[in-house]
Amino acid sequence: MKKAQNSEEKFMDISHILNHLGEDREQYFNAVAPPVVQSSNFALPSIAAFREAFSDELHHHVYTRGNNPTVEILRAKVAALEGCEDALVFSSGSAAVAAAVLSQVAAGDHIVCVRSPYSWTHILMTRFLPRFGVSHTFVDGTDMAEIEAAIQTNTRLLYLESPNSLTYELQDLEACARLARAHGIVTCIDNSHASPIFQNPAAMDIDMVVHSGTKYLNGHSDVVCGVVCSTKERIRKIFEAELMTLGAIPSPHDAALIIRGLRTLELRMQRSHDSALRIAEWLEQHPKVERVLHPWLPSFPQHELAKKQMRGAGGLFSIYLKAERIEEVEVFCNRLNRFLMAVSWGGYESLMLPMAGFYKIPGKGTPSRPWNLIRFYIGLEDPDWLIEDLRQALAG
Ligand SMILES: *Cc1c(COP(=O)(O)O)cnc(C)c1O
Repeated sequence: MKKAQNSEEKFMDISHILNHLGEDREQYFNAVAPPVVQSSNFALPSIAAFREAFSDELHHHVYTRGNNPTVEILRAKVAALEGCEDALVFSSGSAAVAAAVLSQVAAGDHIVCVRSPYSWTHILMTRFLPRFGVSHTFVDGTDMAEIEAAIQTNTRLLYLESPNSLTYELQDLEACARLARAHGIVTCIDNSHASPIFQNPAAMDIDMVVHSGTKYLNGHSDVVCGVVCSTKERIRKIFEAELMTLGAIPSPHDAALIIRGLRTLELRMQRSHDSALRIAEWLEQHPKVERVLHPWLPSFPQHELAKKQMRGAGGLFSIYLKAERIEEVEVFCNRLNRFLMAVSWGGYESLMLPMAGFYKIPGKGTPSRPWNLIRFYIGLEDPDWLIEDLRQALAG
């Protein structure tokens, strides 16, 4: 039986988590699918019950900005998937990242953050937090010495993203957790790329795990949401401050959609992983492809570390196209018929994200990534059908 993390007793069977955990079917007519409790408000039967509910809003049903029965099922599942005590769900991944980061810092504090995190995490660090007196240092996360050298006496948080979702640099999570603990610093990781199926940072002593649930957790390209997983104590603090004041909560309906998405999470991850690796291997052999970046390819610089701390790599990889001019990239991308050109990922449909698209935008500067870099996300289609499309587009 597969466990969410095979080495630790506290991790449960993934099948149990995805299909049953957190669901109390006797409470709702033994319905197999949980109800969408689309109610903002909950009535309390007595003053005694009222007092009890207000003593712990996180675990009672008082008001949906705090706790909603449908969202509560989802919280239990994602916490268990990450092997964490508790979790909160937000209306977007960015809201989850912001809540996790804000919960750990105050004016005068400093954050060590991996260079080139997700774009809006970058803006959180560079534009938003400085307004409140919180500074940061970006570091090359592949270099432990650089991380250590960036730590200051006022550093409170080490923010990680491993792998990142464009060029897939990893951090050694056990080493980062050890270093941070030695300095009394909290660690937080954006684990969206690996998903809880393929990587559980809490088992490597990382303190907080965030996800854009928009990606793999939901998996059907129809909900934007985020999660934060951590200890009961830390989650309670985030609940009472960032979640309740900023109020970036998901709707009960969206929570039900994500619960539905989770039923197939393990299947989808394995399918995407297998297909993406196959297609990446095919592209690596192609004369018109300069280089393929995929953590599961032996050619990947941190391949050994990936194998050590992850169980799979999901559906993302990137290629550098062999091209003299940006127009060649444009021709290749425009010839692809079976990949949608779009941001995001983690759904059923395969996607491409050409960096060339970020060039020549009026009023925007030159992007930091080269124009021949193209990210692919491989969804649930037949990989041979996708390879056929790549073959004809590369022939053009
Ligand atoms: C998409 C994404 C986010 C932001 O999530 P949203 O749900 O779009 O707000 C954060 N981190 C990573 C790695 C992402 O891919």
